[in-house]
Amino acid sequence: MFIDGQWKDSSDGTTFAVFNPANGEKIREVPNGGIKEAREAIEAADVAFKDWSKTTAYQRSAYLYKAYQLMIEQKEELARTMTEEQGKPLKAARNEVQYGADFLLWYAEEAKRVNGEILPSSRADQRFMVIRQPVGVVAAVTPWNYPISMITRKVGPALAAGCTVVLKPAEATPLCAVAMFKIFEAAGIPAGVVNLVTAEDPKPIGAEFTSNPAVRKLTFTGSTGVGKMLAGEAGKNMKRISLELGGHAPFVVFDDADPEHAAKGGSLVKFLNTGQACISPNRFFVHASIYDRFVETFKARVAKMKAGSGFEEGVVIGPLVNQAAIDKVDNQVKDALAKGAELIAGGQVLANDGLEKGYFYAPTVLAGVTSKMAIYREETFGPVAPIIPFENEEDVLEMANDTSYGLAAYVYTRDISRAMRMYEGLRFGIIGINDINPTSAAAPFGGMKESGLGREGARDGILEYLETKLGGFSI
Ligand code: ADP
Repeated sequence: MFIDGQWKDSSDGTTFAVFNPANGEKIREVPNGGIKEAREAIEAADVAFKDWSKTTAYQRSAYLYKAYQLMIEQKEELARTMTEEQGKPLKAARNEVQYGADFLLWYAEEAKRVNGEILPSSRADQRFMVIRQPVGVVAAVTPWNYPISMITRKVGPALAAGCTVVLKPAEATPLCAVAMFKIFEAAGIPAGVVNLVTAEDPKPIGAEFTSNPAVRKLTFTGSTGVGKMLAGEAGKNMKRISLELGGHAPFVVFDDADPEHAAKGGSLVKFLNTGQACISPNRFFVHASIYDRFVETFKARVAKMKAGSGFEEGVVIGPLVNQAAIDKVDNQVKDALAKGAELIAGGQVLANDGLEKGYFYAPTVLAGVTSKMAIYREETFGPVAPIIPFENEEDVLEMANDTSYGLAAYVYTRDISRAMRMYEGLRFGIIGINDINPTSAAAPFGGMKESGLGREGARDGILEYLETKLGGFSI
């Protein structure tokens, strides 16, 4: 753990093990922190806030820029740590390190663009001024699926704004977090400004984050259930919150789109990170007239996908995170098949050629999925593509919006008017139009409805860490 500029073991000396999900082997033990360490880290962040919040934007920018440079220099080592601990193919891990570094660079720049306003008053003797100040100590909770970029996406804007941070990474991926905090340390960021508490049981840390009066903001990425619970607790103590939660993305392919091109895009984005992404498509709506061609192309592409260790050349399907993830995927597939879905590809746990040591599930395609099946509503977070035919635009817009989630949606069409109608009509925070990667440090990422609150990245991302203060001056 990294608290007040020092690497520390837990106070009771306990540790927990981190495993490689591709082969079940233990990688390392890390300190098992609890309430005591969380309190210590919050206290350190609170003390450090006094000086850090008074540094200039240019000074904070320089630290972030240095950390960005170190990330780029260490890209290969960071990517290897990620592949070993999280399982994604090395190429995808390298992409994630770059994406993660981009947030530090973006917020190194954005730090210098926090500005205020001068407003007119109806009184001749009055002047109004608005400034933006850092909210204070930020508690951050991050997930395992993007174990580096979800750290920089929070720490980057928080530090740029002048906040200090205590971060708890997911228990499955603390080694990526340790590697990132070594970078923050090497960048010379002052003691107490960034703190890392690792823990096997997140609950006591979460309780401390939401109740400790020194914490002024909670930023969380993870499941909707945990996010709602933490938001409720944080709300009781009137803390600011940002939540990036689950999703159930529709992927709509109209009859004017090229079905092969759409199937290629759809299969790429569906199986990215083995489906363990909140913006992963969870319902493919394909126009009935091109349905067969779409399904055929999708099937052919899936047939070529190789599962295995992310270190192996040519592997695109890494392991799932744990047995519970396998069970969830398998149960959704079985439920859909029992209710009449057609199995086009996959549909089983992979248990040959050494894969039985890890958590591998075959890339799966289900056709003829209906609203009666659990997969139609529940987030899968795994490698399953459910395909559903539709007849007209009005119906598909309604079906696409018929979810409690509202994070990402994708549309394939060559009709500009239809593209605009869908863009405006879909109740999701991120819409990819003929585009499977609508993400960037420069772009606002976040959801509507039960997918969360607030935005990360872009200019919006730094506003989440700033208070607006009005000054009324009588002259
Ligand atoms: P998943 O089910 O995908 O692992 P979670 O929401 O459980 O998603 O995990 C996301 C992050 O939330 C992880 O860092 C995890 O440790 C943390 N977390 C889970 N439960 C709690 C809790 N009760 N309090 C604080 N953090 C939690």
